[in-house]
Order: sequence, then C-alpha cells, then structure tokens
Amino acid sequence: MRTVLGCIADDFTGATDLAGLLARSGVRVSLRIGVPSAPPKDGAALEVIALKCRTSPVDDAVAEVMAAYEWLNAAGAQNFFWKYCSTFDSTDEGNIGPVAEALMDAIGTDQTIYCPAFPENGRTTYMGVHFVGRQPLAESPMKDHPLTPMRESDLTRLLAPQVKRTVGLVEHACVAKGSEQIERKLAQLHDQGVAHVIIDAIAGEDLIPIAKATRNMPLITGGSAVAAPLPDLYLKEGLIAADAMRPPSPSLARKSVILSGSCSAMTNAQVAHYQTTGAPSYQLDPIELMTSGRDGVLAWLSKQDLGKAPLIYATASPTSVHEVQEKLGVEVAGKLIEDTLAACAIVARDLGVRRIVVAGGETSGAVTKALEISQLDIAEEIAPGVPWTFCQSKGEIVALTLKSGNFGNENFFADALNKLDT
Ligand code: ADP
Repeated sequence: MRTVLGCIADDFTGATDLAGLLARSGVRVSLRIGVPSAPPKDGAALEVIALKCRTSPVDDAVAEVMAAYEWLNAAGAQNFFWKYCSTFDSTDEGNIGPVAEALMDAIGTDQTIYCPAFPENGRTTYMGVHFVGRQPLAESPMKDHPLTPMRESDLTRLLAPQVKRTVGLVEHACVAKGSEQIERKLAQLHDQGVAHVIIDAIAGEDLIPIAKATRNMPLITGGSAVAAPLPDLYLKEGLIAADAMRPPSPSLARKSVILSGSCSAMTNAQVAHYQTTGAPSYQLDPIELMTSGRDGVLAWLSKQDLGKAPLIYATASPTSVHEVQEKLGVEVAGKLIEDTLAACAIVARDLGVRRIVVAGGETSGAVTKALEISQLDIAEEIAPGVPWTFCQSKGEIVALTLKSGNFGNENFFADALNKLDT
C-alpha cells in the first residue's frame, strides 16, 4: 500500500495523539517508534513516525527528521505533516521552525502553514496570538516549562527568530469565510514571498476549511487537530483507496494484564476503581524492590488466573511517592519501577498474555522497549486520545494500549478490556 500522508511527530505521546485522531476516519494508521531501520514494505496509507526531538539540539533534530522524511518519501508519501505540541513548545533556536525549513527544502516547496490550535482542548489562535484556555500562552503555566518556557504569545513573533524566510498570518476573519478564501490568501502571501504562514483557529469548525484549503500543500505543520479532517478529504478525492481501511481487529487470547506506573491523580482513581471489581492486584513497593529484587512480583504473576486481568501497580499518592523519592532518589526509584513493570510485561507475554494495558508515559516507553515493539497499528479509541493498538512482540500479535498520565476516566481499565470483546 502506498503511503499518502507521511507524518513526523516530535515526541511519542504527540505521535499517538495524532495517530488516534487520524484513525477516527477508519483508514489504517501505522505508528513507528523511531525511524525504521528497514526500507518501507507493507506501509499504511497514513504513516506516523514518532521521534524524540522536541528539545534536542537543532542539528540533531533536523538530522532525525530528515531520516524520517527519507523513509516516508521512499514509502511513497506525497504529503507530509510535521507535528509538534499544541502549545508550540520551542525556543528561539527551534526546533519547530528549523525543522519546517529543512523539510520545505527537501520537499522542494516554498510555503507551509503553522496551525497548533486544538480548540477542543482549549488551544486557540486569534490574530496570531495563541491561547491556553483563557490565558495567552506566555501567561499560561507554559511560561514556566522547564525545557521550553514560553514567554511570548504571538506565534508570528515566536516563529520569526527560528526561520530564515518571512512569516505571515491568515487571520480568523479570512478563515471564517471558508476554504476558497483561505487558499486565495495563501496564494497572495506566496506572491509576497511569505514562506511561513500562521493560521488562526478559534473553534473546532475552523479546522475543516483550513484542512480543506491546505490538503494538497506538500507540507503542513501543526498540532494534531488540524490533521484530523485530512483522511476524509483524501478518501473523498480518491487519493486514499477504499482498501486502505483498517482491517478488522484480530481476535486474541483473553489472557490480559494491567501494568500501572503512573502516579497521576486520574491513574490513582483508576487503580482504586479497578480494585473494586474484585480483580487480583499486586502493589509494588519500591523499597522492597530495591532490597529484595523483583522475584516476588514475578512469582505472583505466574500464579495468577490471567483470564481475570490482574493488575500490577506502583501507582501511589504524592506523599508516598515523595517519601520513596527522598529515600531512593527520583531517577533510581523511577527506573526501578519501570524496569520491573517491563519485566512483568515480558513474563506476561511469555505466559500467553495477549492484551496489555499500560498506564504511564515513561512506563509505556519502558514496556514497548522491553517487548521490542517498533510498529503499532492503531485500532479503536478507548477514551479520547487513547486507542488500542496491535503490534508484534516475539512473533506474537499483542493488543497494547498506552495511557499516559491523566487520560481516561475512572473506569478506564475495565472499559479498555471490554472494548476488545465488542
Ligand atoms: P505519567 O504518564 O503519569 O507521567 P510516567 O510513567 O510517565 O507516568 O511517570 C511516572 C514515573 O513515576 C515513572 O518513572 C515511574 O517509574 C515512577 N513511579 C511510579 N510509582 C512510583 C512510586 N510509588 N514511587 C516513586 N516513583 C514511582
């Protein structure tokens, strides 16, 4: 299958968010963790490559993105999407602008758009000024971000120092008039030599004419929301063939496990709620892990009825996490738990578990790495932004869902498992 849209995301959770939104169309979406080492084969119409380059030095980020671009280009992609955070996380050096310019040069195009708006999540842009909820970006909590403190709210001013060519704006008044007007404005700006165009969007409905007007641009850049309408537009135009749809989900053995390393407020509620269902559960004690190793939990796991979807969790209250971190150090404690949950995933897989729910962003990274997963096919959404995925581990098809931090509602774990049965 030839790839139609090739997407490159600057971090893993951003990539899953984008992949999940694209998959709402029913088209097959493939998510790759890092640039695949093998040349493209059996690609999906919609490909997303997850990188980890949001805060890398500019040259490293550009090099990584170029490798991803080469792969997607070889897969046949004609349109490319550069995905970054909906709060435009970047510094004066980059990486949003320099990567976009490098992609433009490689693709051979002289104009692109920047649309980080995600109105459903409170990220909007008006007159080029970006908002997080009611606050301008530079007054939002993003002003104190440890790596990319956002001290300017006007996206045109944020982007200008990052790029060599001219920056311009398509205002909301134009967006509100529809896609033809946007196309005309882009052409006008193009004639004036404007290469980088910020586009206003204040409501979800604005994203449809923006996507329509820019669907054939060789490069689009933005948050995930502006990409969501693209698959339907490509389907309507016949660019995506009918057989590019997601195949029915494979039916897998019912043995399941839930591994939770997130300590967010929502994950704490999810763990507590799941325990009320009577499913078996095991709480990891980091201090005990440090002194006695992980044999205890692995022995417990191998004795469980895996049809009952046992839960293994390190999830704890902020006070208890703090106490552990004081004793062991933040990194040592984190790594100890991540490694333990990753080891549980391997043992579970080898015991025949084919349905794995993971809670925690870093924890997800550790589990996918341990299971040697490099590609995931996106399936049904369980909660906004959290889909089931199907992937291969040691030659076996495994259903995996990766839930970071505060996603999902209280009933998420049971909901996730039920969803695979419907
Ligand atoms: P989230 O998506 O909620 O941020 P992550 O998995 O990314 O979750 O991060 C949680 C981090 O906290 C992980 O490194 C995990 O190993 C660590 N952790 C989990 N439970 C505990 C605990 N009880 N004490 C100390 N650290 C913990």
